[in-house]
Amino acid sequence: MIFPQSKKNSYLCGAKKSYLLSPHTKQTKPKTNYNIMVSYKELGLVNTREMFAKAIAGGYAIPAFNFNNMEQLQAIIKAAATEKSPVILQVSKGARNYANATLLRYMAQGAVEYAKELGWEHPQIVLHLDHGDSFELCKSCIDSGFSSVMIDGSHLPYEENVALTKQVCDYAHQYDVTVEGELGVLAGVEDEVSSDHHTYTDPEEVIDFAQRTGCDSLAISIGTSHGAYKFTPEQCTRNAEGKLVPPPLAFDVLDAVMEKLPGFPIVLHGSSSVPQDEVDTINMFGGKLPDAIGIPEEQLRKAAKSAVCKINIDSDSRLAMTAAVRRVFAEKPGEFDPRKYLGPARDNMEKLYRHKIVNVLGSAGKAE
Ligand SMILES: [Zn+2]
Repeated sequence: MIFPQSKKNSYLCGAKKSYLLSPHTKQTKPKTNYNIMVSYKELGLVNTREMFAKAIAGGYAIPAFNFNNMEQLQAIIKAAATEKSPVILQVSKGARNYANATLLRYMAQGAVEYAKELGWEHPQIVLHLDHGDSFELCKSCIDSGFSSVMIDGSHLPYEENVALTKQVCDYAHQYDVTVEGELGVLAGVEDEVSSDHHTYTDPEEVIDFAQRTGCDSLAISIGTSHGAYKFTPEQCTRNAEGKLVPPPLAFDVLDAVMEKLPGFPIVLHGSSSVPQDEVDTINMFGGKLPDAIGIPEEQLRKAAKSAVCKINIDSDSRLAMTAAVRRVFAEKPGEFDPRKYLGPARDNMEKLYRHKIVNVLGSAGKAE
């Protein structure tokens, strides 16, 4: 086995190397073994290390957009290529099960080539596992071409979280794959991740956690949460127009974490803003999302200027996709060509991603 001992960024084990490296030359068909080890570097992907260092120094954040299917991936890549923004393609365990792990890897590889085709000379694209829940899952992703993984031990007792995160870091760092850990619990539901309460990150724990685990970035809990219902109406106030206004993020906790770990990359999960125009469109065309509410964009803009260098956005693209599809179904009930409703969904997501990059995260033009 070449990987991991080889000094070069070897791509595959043994005889299958020539097959996949040169698909147009002599094709020796592999024997139905899809457990082939792949280095992300050969796929044209990058890890998060340099990207995060630049983001902290430059006072912006990198968008981490989840994807499950082709249209979402196309929209993310088109937006990132157009805006020349570094981008993190995020895959949850649920998405990996939904789309197939092998297919996803090739989609990410294709994304790099697609970005170049779109005129993005040096694409800065990370393939990241969102909410890895075991060492085995993280290892499987690292072995199949992911350049970054998250190990989420936040639901475990502290010492167990430290041990699990360290185990993943020790393995990942052999391959120059970066690791995100998590301290504190986020409320909300998304894929397998679910909690009915949140616990803010304890700033007293962050130095110990970062030092003992060796993690490259840290997801913290300061009041963001997963899903499209981040707050109950009771937790909010109402403005003059009667719209719900959520409580502000706990910037005091963020400040305390930054004081303990100066310059350390911080990650915010559950940072969709739940755009009301998309929610209104969904509800107008037969949907039912009463009182869906997210994180106001000005709060995310403020966070992006700090050590927060990765902001996770998933629900907003789900909403943009659903709104566009519902509109087509309502306005053109005779339509049954999937391209005619997934196409508009893709366009709407691309618009959303570009808006986030330019107006919220400030990452446009940071990866020319
Ligand atoms: Zn998350």
